[in-house]
Amino acid sequence: MIPYSFSSKILLYSPNVLYLEVMSKEALDSRYTHKVLEKAEKLISEGRVYQVSKILFYIIGFHGKYFVNVEEGKFKCTCKGYKRRGLCSHIVAVLLLMSREDYKRKLDEAMKKRLELNLEYIRRGAIPR
Ligand SMILES: [Zn+2]
Repeated sequence: MIPYSFSSKILLYSPNVLYLEVMSKEALDSRYTHKVLEKAEKLISEGRVYQVSKILFYIIGFHGKYFVNVEEGKFKCTCKGYKRRGLCSHIVAVLLLMSREDYKRKLDEAMKKRLELNLEYIRRGAIPR
């Protein structure tokens, strides 16, 4: 169980269950947190999370590219969702990566696949996405 301090507190239980405890004034709708988790998993399984430095992550999101900054256990993202709610799928993806070995492995494999695909695009004379 790993608690984090940002506007929303995330606690991890079993390997397959992520429980979100929201500390912000406006309680998040459970449908929203469910969506955030689903998107975070997808970001990892598609190799869209790049660790730039110990405190900086670059996320190729589904609607844009963002940076997640992690300092002293506080997470910040440059996306609109974070500004509005203090939580987003990008932050949750980074949390999953930082706390779970299985997600790290999953990302490494997905990233390799993504890079190979990009090389294949270049071989065919196309520009990688
Ligand atoms: Zn974000």
